Amino acid sequence: MKVLVINSGSSSLKYQLIDMETESVIAKGNCERIGIADSKLTHSANDKKIVIEKDMPDHNVAVALVLEALTNPEHGAVKTMDEIDAVGHRVVASGEAFKKPTLVNDETMALMEEIKDLAPLHNPAAIIGVNACRAAMPNTPMGLVFDTGFHFTMPDYAYMYAIDYTDYEKYKIRRYGAHGTSHKFVSQEAAKYLGKDPAELKIVTCHLGNGSSISAVNGGKCVDTSMGFTPLAGVPMGTRSGDIDFAAGEYLAKKTGMNVSQALSYLNKSCGMLGVSGVSSDFRNLTAARDEGNDRARLALDMFSYACKKYVGAYAAAMDGVDCIVFTAGVGENTPCVRKAICENMTYLGLSIDEEKNEEKNNGAIRDITGKDSKVKVLIIPTNEELVIARETVELL
Ligand code: ADP
Repeated sequence: MKVLVINSGSSSLKYQLIDMETESVIAKGNCERIGIADSKLTHSANDKKIVIEKDMPDHNVAVALVLEALTNPEHGAVKTMDEIDAVGHRVVASGEAFKKPTLVNDETMALMEEIKDLAPLHNPAAIIGVNACRAAMPNTPMGLVFDTGFHFTMPDYAYMYAIDYTDYEKYKIRRYGAHGTSHKFVSQEAAKYLGKDPAELKIVTCHLGNGSSISAVNGGKCVDTSMGFTPLAGVPMGTRSGDIDFAAGEYLAKKTGMNVSQALSYLNKSCGMLGVSGVSSDFRNLTAARDEGNDRARLALDMFSYACKKYVGAYAAAMDGVDCIVFTAGVGENTPCVRKAICENMTYLGLSIDEEKNEEKNNGAIRDITGKDSKVKVLIIPTNEELVIARETVELL
């Protein structure tokens, strides 16, 4: 069985074609600058990589190009589109409308339209991507897999905000979290690696990338997560502020003449590591600048590690202990100094890391950096969100 996973952004469309028998990627690629000048498709299959520069005025054209690339006799991966058994679509926000993966049909797409506003940058793009695929492959079953899905096991006292309860009921304002497919994947992989049943384990999963979130996974179920109603909440990120007093945003808006939408855009796009350091949102540039003596880069990195450390502590408290901490995503997999700073001074948990192993280069495999005598396992596990989307799509069928 072959499943095509589609991740539509406002001006991009990433895809992977996965062979579910072996769970291996047979083709993948990315359409960039859809609706903008100079759009291009980068496609790889069979150890060949090609770049197709072609106008992509909208997602329909992008999907048509992707299907053409996948079936091309020279650089394709399948003979005909009939070999694609199903399509799984990534969707960022579900609200309470979708608590689990759902098959695409007219009814579910009408519901998707209703919750568009929950993620105004992402959900409309996903709808366009789904519609484009439905038009090109009307007989292929498709699934919607939500970033929020894994977090619906949180207890009410963890997902509720302390606002007027009737506003929660009316507008469904609450914590939803994000990166759910990643937290699910790495927590399951950790259990497998440790040879344990997920039901026996208390795990803190740290998905640290350009966007970062931390989850508490108790007995295989998410019981808390750091992102909130939107991905703005939690630890500071590449360009997002993370947790901030709402009144500070209102005060800044008044002082600078921003309206609410502009203030929100500022908090999402101009803050975090970029805002504090004034250097970059990219951790490679930040660590380089810090090592050259840039004190604001040092401050940004210290703020990031400190915030992550506090979430680990909070989730150990929430679960009455922790058996394993997992690091994943761009920063979690590739930045030893961040892992070291987060895991330092955790003697109260009996946690230590092996500093030599922590410094070893990412080899794409699971790495165990647990210190000698540490009571808590510390693992680095490469994430694979596309595979989770493909697996959940197969389950739907
Ligand atoms: P997102 O998926 O949220 O865009 P990623 O998980 O790709 O983000 O993480 C991007 C971050 O990972 C960047 O800040 C980057 O600096 C950091 N990073 C550090 N080392 C590497 C590396 N070798 N490869 C990719 N990203 C890296």
